[in-house]
Amino acid sequence: MYETADADPEAFWAAEAQRLDWIRPWDRVLDWDPPFARWFVGGRINASVNCLDRHAKGPRRNRAAIVWEGEPGDRRVLTYHDLWREVGRMGNALRGLGVRKGDRVTIYMPMIPELPAAMLACARIGAVHSVIFGGFSARAIRDRMEDAESRILVTADAGYRRGNVLPLKRIADEAVAGLDLVEHVVVYRRAGVDVAMSEGRDHWWHELAAAADSRCEPEPMEATDPLFILYTSGTTGAPKGIQHSTGGYLVGVAATTRLVFDLRDDDLYWCTADCGWVTGHSYIVYGPLANGASVFMYEGAPDWPAPDRWWRMVEDYGTTVLYTAPTAIRAFMRSGDEHPKKHDLSSLRLLGTVGEPINPEAWRWYHRTIGGGRCPIVDTWWQTETGMILITPLPGVTTTKPGSATRPFPGVAAEVVDDRGRPVPVNTGGYLVITKPWPAMLQTIFRDPERYKDVYWSKVPGKYFTGDGARVDEDAYFWLMGRIDDVINVAGHRIGTMEVESALVSHAAVAEAAVVGKPHPLKGQSLVAYVVLKAGGTQSEGLTKDLQKHVREVIGAIAVPDEVYITSKLPKTRSGKIMRRVIRALVSGQEIGDTTTLEDPGAVDEVRKWLAEVEGDPPR
Ligand code: ATP
Ligand code: MG
Repeated sequence: MYETADADPEAFWAAEAQRLDWIRPWDRVLDWDPPFARWFVGGRINASVNCLDRHAKGPRRNRAAIVWEGEPGDRRVLTYHDLWREVGRMGNALRGLGVRKGDRVTIYMPMIPELPAAMLACARIGAVHSVIFGGFSARAIRDRMEDAESRILVTADAGYRRGNVLPLKRIADEAVAGLDLVEHVVVYRRAGVDVAMSEGRDHWWHELAAAADSRCEPEPMEATDPLFILYTSGTTGAPKGIQHSTGGYLVGVAATTRLVFDLRDDDLYWCTADCGWVTGHSYIVYGPLANGASVFMYEGAPDWPAPDRWWRMVEDYGTTVLYTAPTAIRAFMRSGDEHPKKHDLSSLRLLGTVGEPINPEAWRWYHRTIGGGRCPIVDTWWQTETGMILITPLPGVTTTKPGSATRPFPGVAAEVVDDRGRPVPVNTGGYLVITKPWPAMLQTIFRDPERYKDVYWSKVPGKYFTGDGARVDEDAYFWLMGRIDDVINVAGHRIGTMEVESALVSHAAVAEAAVVGKPHPLKGQSLVAYVVLKAGGTQSEGLTKDLQKHVREVIGAIAVPDEVYITSKLPKTRSGKIMRRVIRALVSGQEIGDTTTLEDPGAVDEVRKWLAEVEGDPPR
């Protein structure tokens, strides 16, 4: 497969596209007018038909599409036929509210089956969805609705998170207050809490659904019509509205889901992401459902009401594939092995990770403690912009190395280059670029093609610039080194934060670490480390010295942090990624910048507190 895809990537992708149902076949597989790619030109397709109708009409009709558990413990199963009906009703309901092809619909919902249903209802009628993670504030919703010029919002009365009722409708009301462009708000009743309904503007989902027909004529979309926009996580700065196509995107996510997760008919597949992130779009909704998979979905917090919640569910439902993020794995490592050990996890056959580089220590723990030493791990590298997994092992094919995302997916061409765009030698760090178009690639930044060209295509002309640093080893395996912004220059040596963090996490007492550079009069920059200890770990005089010694042994003197602080939490995005730019700004006394994507502002105070104790005078 690697060889045939390499020899003729377009033929490879065309063969993958043949697995989908097309309304009209494409004329050309690819029009490449750099940096704008148009995949399956002339083809017509509807994403919801591919995710629902073709299963609901065949032998998978009564198969579970979504197996769901709410945080309070309530359970639901929607078969393909059930989901098809619900999506049809909502498609008709949205049309009834005047939504037409190309209109943007904002979705702000908890992780309940109606969230994918709302996305698919948009896809059915050709509306472009913009999903906003349920943890975001009114301000963040408002900014994104204005940017997308979205007239419709789909939300819920509330959701559950860590035992609390999260008042989504109240936050949504605040977001749209005085926002003249908003015409309709559709509200799903999840928690049964009292909400204010504004006459004429607000509509109950269940009332609209009851009045609507479940047969909903799908909009015949051009393959190149947009399917959705999604704002990035905001780890490096303000989020960008990434626009994805219908046909190319669906081909890319359907193919990668099938091959990377080696899907089988008896799988219960669980991707723990939220649909508010690209991982949820591609690997909860479009990829798995296009393949007719049974998808498990969970509404709430991983450690609620106890740190074994996930493992209890794996045992109860017989989950076979688990796809999650390093941040979650490190949190479980931190809380102790006794929680997964309480449960029978033998149904699991494949594990995956995405979102950040996974340090080898966490990889091994995941492999041993969750996978019982039996399950292959697919470490999948990709981005909101790439739409689909681009660098990954294929289970049963690729020999893995803990911490490496291994090789580009068949048909994908990746390289590591220097700042003049020339490939760097083996095991030398550089910029990760993608050298050929791939079907699920972003089309543009919503209504800002100039910014699209500038951000992704100007640094290395003719190649897609990922913003990530990487090296390729002697076996042609890719090792992601973190974001380019995070690479630190100490006395002329370029050090990846990831490497130092990994060394710290390999110390027995450490659960998580963030390393940043701080201006230094002699060295240019010096390293500062923030470390979170494992449960039961205590801070002691000797520990800091011991950690410095440990880094010296693992990497060398050059990588030893000058300052090591023990902290109880690190600043993270709402998708769980460490926001080094915030720590960096704090330690060098700069403004923090955009913090709307920060998960827990308390973590910033924690870092501030440490700086204050050490330096007497806290930076702003
Ligand atoms: P923003 O672009 O707004 O700053 P973000 O980059 O965090 O936010 P995402 O698109 O959600 O937004 O994340 C993609 C990034 O996550 C990648 O560029 C990479 O830095 C990191 N990443 C994802 N998967 C992996 C992986 N398997 N290994 C290493 N890094 C990964
Ligand atoms: Mg990014």
